[in-house]
Amino acid sequence: MEKPRIGIFSLTGCGGDQLMILNLEDELLDLLSHFDIKSFQEASSYEETTTELDIAFVEGSVSTKTDLERLKEIRNRCKLLIALGDCAIDGCVQAMRNQQMTIAEKMRKVYGVEEDYYDVLEPKGLAAHVKVDIKIPGCPIEKTEVLHAIISLLHGDMPEAIDYPVCVECKLNEYPCVIIEKDMPCLGPITTAGCDARCPGLGLDCIGCRGPIKDEANAAEELNLLSEKGFDFEYIANRLRFFGGNFEEIVKLTGSLKKKIGEGGQTDE
Ligand code: SF4
Ligand code: SF4
Repeated sequence: MEKPRIGIFSLTGCGGDQLMILNLEDELLDLLSHFDIKSFQEASSYEETTTELDIAFVEGSVSTKTDLERLKEIRNRCKLLIALGDCAIDGCVQAMRNQQMTIAEKMRKVYGVEEDYYDVLEPKGLAAHVKVDIKIPGCPIEKTEVLHAIISLLHGDMPEAIDYPVCVECKLNEYPCVIIEKDMPCLGPITTAGCDARCPGLGLDCIGCRGPIKDEANAAEELNLLSEKGFDFEYIANRLRFFGGNFEEIVKLTGSLKKKIGEGGQTDE
């Protein structure tokens, strides 16, 4: 039987999601032997640029016109498109200042000119531009999650999306809640689970690195909760925007930061 043809690609991002696939170490050779790999940027300089693909894994956000052209070209030649990691899902940290400042304002602030010398766009996830079939969250992704997704696909099944928060994993592990016990500004209640509550398990607060849970995260209630704990609006807003800069409810909630950032430049976490 012919092996599925796959490609693994990067747009704007740190390359950490491809690295997590390479970090599969014990399973990697066996796993990849089930596929016909046509592109894997971090693993090999070999690339077939026009071959039709069964599955394309794309990490990174669409942050330049070059990214957008590349994404459309990949979408046109693959059957299944997988957004790999937070950048590809919703823009991640690159999106922190979207809606706060225009590209021209950023150019003026950083370089003192307004001309667009670069081909930049407001950082967005892949789904803002093309159809995405599967999303695997994380910054970076969990290697076991991508392994399970690939195994599901090999069996002809679609991987199941996680639609519950980190708090659920905290409870399952019987970790003490760091909001209640330590008054820490944990974002676990609105963050997509799947990391086994790694940070609360170490006594740390969740900073939301797996992104807000799509259609479920109640950012307003998180803001109320942390306000009651004494954290100020600007601090919470910056924290929410760190991995949720394109998340609709967070954009609405934190809109009032715009003026402050535009005038003051830096709003430190
Ligand atoms: S520590 Fe954070 S993730 Fe865990 S239960 Fe409390 S709020 Fe939720
Ligand atoms: S920041 Fe939150 S989502 Fe990310 S690994 Fe820690 S607990 Fe998990």
